[in-house]
Amino acid sequence: MFGFLKGLAVTISQLPKKKVTLQYPDVRPQWPERFRGIHQLSVERCIVCGQCARICPTSCISLSGTRGEDRKLHLDTFDISFEICILCDLCTEVCPTEAIKMTDEFELAAYSRDQLYKNIEWLHENYVRHDGAKELAEAERPAALVGKAGEGRD
Ligand code: SF4
Ligand code: SF4
Repeated sequence: MFGFLKGLAVTISQLPKKKVTLQYPDVRPQWPERFRGIHQLSVERCIVCGQCARICPTSCISLSGTRGEDRKLHLDTFDISFEICILCDLCTEVCPTEAIKMTDEFELAAYSRDQLYKNIEWLHENYVRHDGAKELAEAERPAALVGKAGEGRD
């Protein structure tokens, strides 16, 4: 009986305190700016230097490219095996063009190990959802502002 009352006292003492749990997945956590989540890749920015693959401590990045008529290297394939990626951030630190960056996404649970192998399309789509969407919004902002400025003149 004493144990029950003691437990009840602990429960009641916590009631007025701020909640630390979230109604996930309806409410998503707000991560710090430098949170190391799963990667995004901008195919246009990648210069196929291979530094990310060379520095990766688990060798989970593989990529290939070909030289185009403009004599520049263009990315053909880029794969990350999230089965062995330790989200250490080294690949993004060395990338000279910020083509590969980390996002605040963290949900990678899958029923099969094969699904943890992400290719260039998947990684680029992740870019489109994150920085790509932000860059598009930035590019469109001046036009939107011009539209708003003209509204009040009539
Ligand atoms: S985060 Fe680390 S382990 Fe993962 S791909 Fe980049 S360098 Fe490799
Ligand atoms: S370090 Fe950056 S630019 Fe170089 S291959 Fe990797 S993603 Fe591309």
